[in-house]
Amino acid sequence: MIMIDLKNKLSHAVDNIIAKHAADVDRQSRFPLESINALKDIKLLGAYIKREDGGLGCTLSDIAGMTMMIAQKCASTAMIFAMHHIQVACIMHHEESSSFKGYLKEIADKQLLLASNTSEVGTGGDNGRSIAGVEYVGPRCTLLKDASIISYGAYADSILVTAKKSPDARTTDQVLILMKKEETELTETGVWDTLGMRGTCSPPFQIKGSFPIENIFNTQFKTVLSQTMVPVSHILWSSCWLGIATDAADTARKYVQSKARKSKPYLPDTRLAEMNNSLQLLNSQLIHCLDTYKALLELPEEHRKSELTSTPVLLKWNALKMNVSNDAAGIVHRAMQICGISSYQNNGQYTLAKHLRDIHSASLMINNERLMETNASLLLIYKNSDHPLF
Ligand SMILES: Cc1cc2nc3c(=O)[nH]c(=O)nc-3n(C[C@H](O)[C@H](O)[C@H](O)COP(=O)(O)OP(=O)(O)OC[C@H]3O[C@@H](n4cnc5c(N)ncnc54)[C@H](O)[C@@H]3O)c2cc1C
Repeated sequence: MIMIDLKNKLSHAVDNIIAKHAADVDRQSRFPLESINALKDIKLLGAYIKREDGGLGCTLSDIAGMTMMIAQKCASTAMIFAMHHIQVACIMHHEESSSFKGYLKEIADKQLLLASNTSEVGTGGDNGRSIAGVEYVGPRCTLLKDASIISYGAYADSILVTAKKSPDARTTDQVLILMKKEETELTETGVWDTLGMRGTCSPPFQIKGSFPIENIFNTQFKTVLSQTMVPVSHILWSSCWLGIATDAADTARKYVQSKARKSKPYLPDTRLAEMNNSLQLLNSQLIHCLDTYKALLELPEEHRKSELTSTPVLLKWNALKMNVSNDAAGIVHRAMQICGISSYQNNGQYTLAKHLRDIHSASLMINNERLMETNASLLLIYKNSDHPLF
């Protein structure tokens, strides 16, 4: 559970700042500066970082809860908050060198914002492969990469970027690199003018940078990917999408209640109950994944890796992402059916237009087709009775 004081502060920021700017952020497809500054004011960019490193020491469940709260008013701000924490978790779970430890302290102290780049022109959403490779030039390394998307790239203090270990390495032989703003040149190579999630400001960029070798993760990227990036992404993205769906269902409830007050007797609308059933199911799946991940991280090191990469566990993270991205969109659609034309308006008390546009990014953000194919392949080779599927 989020600490009470922090929850109150976040609730205040959500109601008074984040909600207030959400429509303008969406309309102008602009970075939610006021909202991110409000999160920085309450030190939330260091929320997951341990207290001994200057952070707030929150759990992943706390971060998921906060993401959901923010998403109910501004999905773009929530997604930025989620993506930042995915990167923080990658550093925290895998790197212990003094330079990475020092950087975590700097994130908490200066409230630095971290972005991510895995997708590349030529590989798309296949984040297990890279085309650009790291070059070693004297004591420093360089990278030139055509990134197909970097959310809030222009506003981030650093980006965790994937690349091949060297230009002649195999496409799957990847490393993860901390590329700091002051050492990186970003050139926008396209525009971000999308249906939804407009405030994430995620155009394509050419990344050109030079960095010390210590900024390359010691842990192989495929380990970071399977043990942290995939589970934490799917958990926090799902929290964001559930936040959108929760607010849509809430809007529908208010619409029905207001109608009921005006014309009595008014029969209960069973569609509200149906939506609630769906939300409960998705929330339970999210909580189950959070509990599973927590339990796996607490295992002794010698068991942790094999358990975290076991087939049933990998299936679970992907199933969460696919279910929530599909069903949350269904919930928003159902809420629109209930509210009728007032939800189709771009403004007004019952508008769900932005919810609908934002939620349609969910199934594309690492395409569900790819994840379905991955899970189907895992099920085809699954035969280990030591790891039951459920
Ligand atoms: C709001 C938002 C923010 C994002 N932010 C970032 C970010 O900060 N950093 C970042 O790196 N990326 C980011 N992404 C990108 C995202 O995570 C995916 O990498 C990207 O959307 C994939 O692009 P694509 O659909 O063009 O490519 P693909 O994933 O290649 O999909 C294109 C089509 O090809 C099909 N396809 C291709 N290969 C396969 C396969 N093997 N199996 C089945 N189907 C296949 C897909 O189903 C789909 O129909 C963001 C995306 C969104 C929506």
